[in-house]
Amino acid sequence: MQNEYVVPRLYPFDPALDRLDRQALISLAVTTGVGYAQEELRELTRNEIIDAIIGARVTAEEEAEDDPQAYEPRLVASPTLPSGFEMAPGRSLHVVWHDDWPHAALALALDDPDDSLGAAERERDGDVVMRILASNPPVVAALEAGDERLPLVRPLSWRQLCERADVDLPDGSQRVPVRAARALLAALADEIERPGGFFLVAGDCRAAEPATAVDVAVVLQRATPEEALTCAMCDVELDSWELHYFRGELRDIQLDIQDQVDDAAALCVRCHRLSHSTSLEDFRRALLWPRCPQCGSDDVRGIQYGLLTVPPDPERWVMGGCVMGVVNPRWHCDGCETRFGIFVAGPLGPQDPRRY
Ligand SMILES: [Zn+2]
Ligand SMILES: [Zn+2]
Ligand SMILES: [Zn+2]
Repeated sequence: MQNEYVVPRLYPFDPALDRLDRQALISLAVTTGVGYAQEELRELTRNEIIDAIIGARVTAEEEAEDDPQAYEPRLVASPTLPSGFEMAPGRSLHVVWHDDWPHAALALALDDPDDSLGAAERERDGDVVMRILASNPPVVAALEAGDERLPLVRPLSWRQLCERADVDLPDGSQRVPVRAARALLAALADEIERPGGFFLVAGDCRAAEPATAVDVAVVLQRATPEEALTCAMCDVELDSWELHYFRGELRDIQLDIQDQVDDAAALCVRCHRLSHSTSLEDFRRALLWPRCPQCGSDDVRGIQYGLLTVPPDPERWVMGGCVMGVVNPRWHCDGCETRFGIFVAGPLGPQDPRRY
């Protein structure tokens, strides 16, 4: 019988691994490539096996930083490039560059017929269109030919693709010269078949410049024509979102884009604020403050009436005047200046609008 001493763990408790039974852990250790044979693994304690698995993964991530090819990406968009997307003789490849990448990502994911993504300039029948979203870094998010669209749910780095095709193209919309076009499409087919990996510095939602290519991937993977993109916390339908990363502590290392997507949630502004609340006041505000019914903004302040000896915090309140009418709005939207939430005057005095 295995002697299960309490061995101190190198790595913290990992619910995904700690749930597995011993046999499953051994099988996983073999496929993870921890460097032990089956028989050797049987000699290890449970904790040692879990440590070996996590250790091998950490090493793989570290190696990925030096050699992106060494780390196999997990989600492949499509096994091959469908033949319809090859360029017929005499036809052109157009790159269409979308600076408004959040809008373009949503339109692609929802496959909105009125998505206003637009055709390429001087596009003709039989031409192929490659849509690039100008996220950071820019990504190849879809290929189109006629009415057909191949969305790349695991977006590719535009610059990486150019490098792989050995072509030097400027950023921006353009008709690609024939030779470069063939090289690009061949590289794309190759990339789909044998993904080279797309690595980014791990996301940090509080950083000034988050890895926005992850936004594109999140939208393309989580929104579908049947299901709009919704806030992962409150389910409200989103047309703009903030990404929340659950692994902020890994922000200094590069991760495959798919690992980052798995680790990120698209949230509405309010839920995002809620998940970063550091004080009870923040938490209450994020949880209880209303949204503007007119524009949806949650840049909303409460309105206080009456003559106050101490002026209220202007971040949270606006003054509604010292005399109340019969009907008085309770909230003020800083986004569109709408006042809403009518209540009929009761006793005067500074009111905490959250009570109504
Ligand atoms: Zn939400
Ligand atoms: Zn966050
Ligand atoms: Zn508003």
